[in-house]
Amino acid sequence: MKFSVTVLGSSSALPTASRNLTAHLLNAYERFFLIDCGEGTVRQLRRFKINISKINNLFISHLHGDHYFGIFGLLTTLSLLGRKKDFHIFAHEELQEIINCQLSHEHLSYEIIFHKLNKNKTEIIYEDKQITVTSFPLKHRIASNGFLFKEKEKERNIKKELIPYYKLSIKDIVSIKKGEDFINADGDIIPNKHLTLDPPKPRSYAFCSDTGFLPEIAPIIKNVDLLYHESTFADNMALRAKETLHSTAKDAAKIAKLANAGQLLLGHFSTRYTDLSIFTKEASQIFPNVVLAIDGKSYDIENQ
Ligand SMILES: [Zn+2]
Repeated sequence: MKFSVTVLGSSSALPTASRNLTAHLLNAYERFFLIDCGEGTVRQLRRFKINISKINNLFISHLHGDHYFGIFGLLTTLSLLGRKKDFHIFAHEELQEIINCQLSHEHLSYEIIFHKLNKNKTEIIYEDKQITVTSFPLKHRIASNGFLFKEKEKERNIKKELIPYYKLSIKDIVSIKKGEDFINADGDIIPNKHLTLDPPKPRSYAFCSDTGFLPEIAPIIKNVDLLYHESTFADNMALRAKETLHSTAKDAAKIAKLANAGQLLLGHFSTRYTDLSIFTKEASQIFPNVVLAIDGKSYDIENQ
């Protein structure tokens, strides 16, 4: 089953000819989760041939314009496409009023369900059969939150050839898949380990939006498969990063190392850098598996 992130925008405050403002799309089992929505996100979704109507949940990390000004276009586009299903927005509470104000004269064809993010606390904000989403506070000039998308632990895989061998009933199979041992008619205990194989490891993706260096997030995103972490600046602007509460490529790499991430995805690049190889070079001195965010590129997280 697919678990893949598509970058829709990788630039910081200013868009360029090839880089739009921040937005990521997670495809988890063909259900789409949009994370941040910079101006022009609808155009990017169109450009990369993504079915906008499949998006049911939008997560906004913080209320700097480059992360959410695309929301008005998105909400009206969904209505023009004739959406009927509820649309869920997870964001800081101030956004609700901004939306109400901006769209007060629009008659949307669907309901918006607003979920307020906690600015100070780590908590699970979304859950369905397959995944959970955890929100956690970052350190920026205004309240900013990161998001961890994680597959739920799957049931154990039963060894098919053992079903007839032990004459397992449906009820037995259900409990064995949950991890229980099997007791046969003679009262012998057959250990679960003998009957099943480990399920695939749950896959995960963390979105660490605008933030200064914040090692406290490492335990929350521990062992994440794909870590997106902003890196607005390279080391030559480390002071500026500190002043503006942004990160350098090295800061992001330190977080990836502390969190034991599988891969680090860097983005939110300042437009002052035309050659981005400096970001890979500096980050990989600390954490080896680094990739750069490229608009339109998808980053698949495979089962292991
Ligand atoms: Zn910001």
